[in-house]
Amino acid sequence: QKAKRLHHGFSHYEEGEDCQHHRQLTLSNGLAKAVANNDFFMVYQPKFNCQKGAIDQLEALLRWQHPQLGIIYPNEFIHLAERCGMMKPLSLWVIERVIAQVATWQAKGIDIKVAINLSASDLENPQLISVIRATLEHYQVNPNKLVIEVTESAMMASLSKSIRVLNLLRELGVSLAIDDFGTGQSSLAYLRHLPVDEVKVDRAFISDFDQDDIAKQIVKTTIKLTHQLGLSVTVEGIETQKVADYLQGHQVDYLQGLYIAKPLLPDEVESQHVLSLSTPTHCDIKYPFAS
Ligand code: C2E
Ligand code: MG
Ligand code: MG
Ligand code: MG
Repeated sequence: QKAKRLHHGFSHYEEGEDCQHHRQLTLSNGLAKAVANNDFFMVYQPKFNCQKGAIDQLEALLRWQHPQLGIIYPNEFIHLAERCGMMKPLSLWVIERVIAQVATWQAKGIDIKVAINLSASDLENPQLISVIRATLEHYQVNPNKLVIEVTESAMMASLSKSIRVLNLLRELGVSLAIDDFGTGQSSLAYLRHLPVDEVKVDRAFISDFDQDDIAKQIVKTTIKLTHQLGLSVTVEGIETQKVADYLQGHQVDYLQGLYIAKPLLPDEVESQHVLSLSTPTHCDIKYPFAS
């Protein structure tokens, strides 16, 4: 890239970099206003419970509806929010929004467990526990309807602090998941020190599953060890039936990915009746939710 730059002088690369920089500035500068204006919304991606043969959980994913730039995805703005101190209000918004949605669904007779993603900086927020507790109480949602996902790298960033916060969340009665597992610096051996209920294997291991025998072995070993520790395993990024079938054959607990269902708006969750399929089936599972 450097060579390219030297060669071309004012090259596309530099222009591209400038554009990128400009976009990041625009987004950073817009964050505070966006939070104040409620320019965010949540989508909910189903998780397929393999044992039940049904969808019985959702993961809440954040979207920014930017007035000029359209929908912005979290990979582009979460790190900016962290950097300019906007993560705290944003996460508080997410917590309230999602718990309110669970209550709305409950009132409609839809009984579903929903996962929220939290960032590294959220674990440092001393109000986190009390806000979650108060919000659950306010909306009369049982803590066992909530899962908190924290990435492996966020947990490992300050391990002892994370463990303390995770234990407090657990005392509250919410479930905990370690997200993007396998991409951080920790090893399988760390799992037994982390107070989590679920391991979510990163989709990086799935991306070329067919060609990559090592990735397959890693996933199989992770499932085995996680089960030995009494934890449940989700594999993310399932895009084909082949991979879904393979993992079910290796006793994975949950599958998540475009093959099962894409992230959905609350209306879509309700109208597509993704949650009504509660007949326990085994082996011969159909996936009617692919989009
Ligand atoms: P994640 O928690 O690991 O979420 C999974 C991401 O993979 C989501 O991207 C989802 O849309 C995408 N995905 C799902 N199935 C497939 C698939 O089959 N193939 C592919 N290629 N991708 C799939 P999204 O929504 O863009 O979120 C990206 C990351 O941003 C999330 O990763 C999570 O770490 C973070 N994030 C999302 N929402 C929030 C939030 O409310 N708060 C915080 N702190 N972080 C969030
Ligand atoms: Mg997640
Ligand atoms: Mg993940
Ligand atoms: Mg991720």
